[in-house]
Amino acid sequence: MFTRREMQELVLVDGKAKGIITRNLITGEIEKHFGDAVILATGGYGNVFFLSTNAMSSNVSAAMLAYKKGACFANPCFMQIHPTCIPVHGDYQSKLTLMSESLRNDGRIWVPKKQDDKRNPDDIPENERNYYLEKKYPSFGNLVPRDVASRNAKEQCDAGRGVGETGYAVYLDFKNAIKRDGIDIIRKKYGNLFSMYEKITDENPYEKPMMIYPASHYTMGGLWVDYNLMSSIDGLFVLGEANFSDHGANRLGASALMQGLADGYFIIPATISGYLSNETPGNLFEATTEFSNSQKAVEENIDKLLSINGKRTCDDIHKELGKILWDNCGLARNEKNLIKTKKVVKNLKDEFWTNVKVPGTSKEMNQTLEKAGRVAEFLDFADLLLTDAESRKESCGSHFNENYQTEENEAKRDDKNFAYVAAWEYQGKEKEPLLHKEKLVFENIELSQRSYK
Ligand SMILES: Cc1cc2nc3c(=O)[nH]c(=O)nc-3n(C[C@H](O)[C@H](O)[C@H](O)COP(=O)(O)OP(=O)(O)OC[C@H]3O[C@@H](n4cnc5c(N)ncnc54)[C@H](O)[C@@H]3O)c2cc1C
Repeated sequence: MFTRREMQELVLVDGKAKGIITRNLITGEIEKHFGDAVILATGGYGNVFFLSTNAMSSNVSAAMLAYKKGACFANPCFMQIHPTCIPVHGDYQSKLTLMSESLRNDGRIWVPKKQDDKRNPDDIPENERNYYLEKKYPSFGNLVPRDVASRNAKEQCDAGRGVGETGYAVYLDFKNAIKRDGIDIIRKKYGNLFSMYEKITDENPYEKPMMIYPASHYTMGGLWVDYNLMSSIDGLFVLGEANFSDHGANRLGASALMQGLADGYFIIPATISGYLSNETPGNLFEATTEFSNSQKAVEENIDKLLSINGKRTCDDIHKELGKILWDNCGLARNEKNLIKTKKVVKNLKDEFWTNVKVPGTSKEMNQTLEKAGRVAEFLDFADLLLTDAESRKESCGSHFNENYQTEENEAKRDDKNFAYVAAWEYQGKEKEPLLHKEKLVFENIELSQRSYK
């Protein structure tokens, strides 16, 4: 594990992963690290939207660098958007806060029936409120899965029934629960969350409904791995959110931490030892050409970023990318927009490489330089994300393609043609990646359309 260092390149020797090149984030030094195998546990790519519930330094660069060296990237268009987050409040915001999903156990979600209704929620009588989840999905109500709750919130807001200053929020109301169970029980259950909400929004959720809106949260796609957690590059293992395994097009609550534990505690100790038993250690120093070439490539890339000296900040470009993707490849997608957006992202990428400004030098702590490297990879990843979304001509789980809906506007799967993992193989700069299909085989259950009615 290399703390305070950022991986800048994966080094292959005879087609096998044998090390990485890192940048020391404190001194700026470029370092070579040799090994008989490489493990990546570098997290998900939810920050491609700029705003997400993830930590701000979460990024996709390690996965993209591995992809560019031959590791297939699976299902990049599967991204979970969590319904219960504090809404965006302005342009100068760097992340979004997740309110726990548990709140939906007792909170009731609603919007005013009338469009653009700016009344105080207390002044809106019961018969003028739309408890849309309870109405539409009577058996599950407010507890429908994340993708369904998120999409329905968007639908209400797009129809002009959203609340709050921006109109992109819905109410999560505890009034009935407090009346039914008493304030002490509710405080016991959710007191910490309520006080966090109050600190951030300056509103008291015991008295006034919370306002929530969906935000990018978790990414089910990631580097393709086999059951041993090895990627399509020999000796490169990928763990946790960085790989694609286990979740499919949707993820259930709490399952990511279970996956992290299973990958790290149980699977990798057994499988990496199996791999290493067939490797002969040593002689790596003789393979210095691969390491020196990789180091040179990293240094050239850093010099290029520093030399552009343009007029836009990394954050500015990242924010623009995030908005473009959120609007066109977020909660809902459609084929026309996906194709159009690929061109828009390509132009933004050109803008980045000609007009970004990265001040400072490479031989010091330089957080803008760190960001620049990450934004460069997010821009390349965005293209892959759009390609995957466009190629999946169905709706499934988090991937809601407006062109494929049931009569009731629910996601319409096409299991006959799309029950596969889409594993994309890099073909070179400016070239379309190659799609490999790993068929999904269900032996004990029959696939059927989901229904929460
Ligand atoms: C607010 C929030 C709440 C959540 N709640 C739950 C929950 O209740 N239950 C649940 O199951 N899941 C939950 N999740 C999801 C779960 O926390 C994550 O999926 C999980 O932590 C991912 O772990 P990881 O080790 O794979 O990646 P991460 O925890 O993201 O760690 C990746 C690390 O790699 C580093 N890194 C990235 N790129 C590089 C590079 N190039 N070089 C070096 N280092 C790099 C990152 O800085 C980071 O430290 C939540 C997520 C969030 C954001």
